[in-house]
Amino acid sequence: MTDTPFAPDDAQARRAVRPVICYPNDSLPEPDLPLYRRARQGAVKTAEQRVDPREAACFEVPAGHFFRITSIEGPQVGDLNLWNRNNLSERFYSGKTRALHGTHVSTGERLWSSFPYMRPMATIVEDTLGWYGIDEFGGSVHDVIGTRCDPYTGNLLSGSQYHHCCHSNLTRALADHLRLPLAEAEPHVHDVLNVFMCTGFTRDTGQYFMKASPVRPGDYLEFFAEIDLLGALSACPGGDCSAEHSSDTAACYPMLVEVFAPPTDELANWRPPAVNGYDRSHGRG
Ligand SMILES: [Zn+2]
Repeated sequence: MTDTPFAPDDAQARRAVRPVICYPNDSLPEPDLPLYRRARQGAVKTAEQRVDPREAACFEVPAGHFFRITSIEGPQVGDLNLWNRNNLSERFYSGKTRALHGTHVSTGERLWSSFPYMRPMATIVEDTLGWYGIDEFGGSVHDVIGTRCDPYTGNLLSGSQYHHCCHSNLTRALADHLRLPLAEAEPHVHDVLNVFMCTGFTRDTGQYFMKASPVRPGDYLEFFAEIDLLGALSACPGGDCSAEHSSDTAACYPMLVEVFAPPTDELANWRPPAVNGYDRSHGRG
């Protein structure tokens, strides 16, 4: 970091202050992973959805069921949106998920919903890339820092009109699934979980970087649905995101989403989490 004319005499001392974790998450309600795993053991597949390269597709998962996203045929990154199936205004909140769990998520961590609901929407129960950890560049997989590739940023930076960015793919998939005009579907599309994407921030310039995903065909990320979910997954035009996105240049592969129903008895006493307990009076009456 370079000193500016305003640097105080104790600049180094101020920088040397040790950081504290913003949201110590040891008081977060713990997911009952042993229960989920018991329920998963006898689960049977009820649906599957193939996602074509540079396209997106929707899928529905009832509360208490599981869904698995698998890389098939070649290394491929997926952009995931989640909504409450019964109320689209409750949707995945990547910023708060990042604040609670960190820049990347894995087994035992949860995808949280937007205000005023702010409750777990899904819990990660299995991650075959959990071994990756954090590499020497500060990169890791399944990020909640990128937003989604979109045609507006491409237009801003290069004047392009590219139509198969994840934002547009998710917009078309949601419009088709709910039979909405594109303009009505688009505002529901939100910042994603970048499934299998390997990203981080450079230490010297603080810039968002991506690198070739370590995912290989057969790798998967599996979730327990805490509430009734509508999901949309885009097979990113960046492919494994080793070089570029927002174009038709990268090798791109399909992805697979599978839904599994648990045996009825295992979750007999389980209930979806309640919405957030804040009273919403915001200090007035
Ligand atoms: Zn993308």
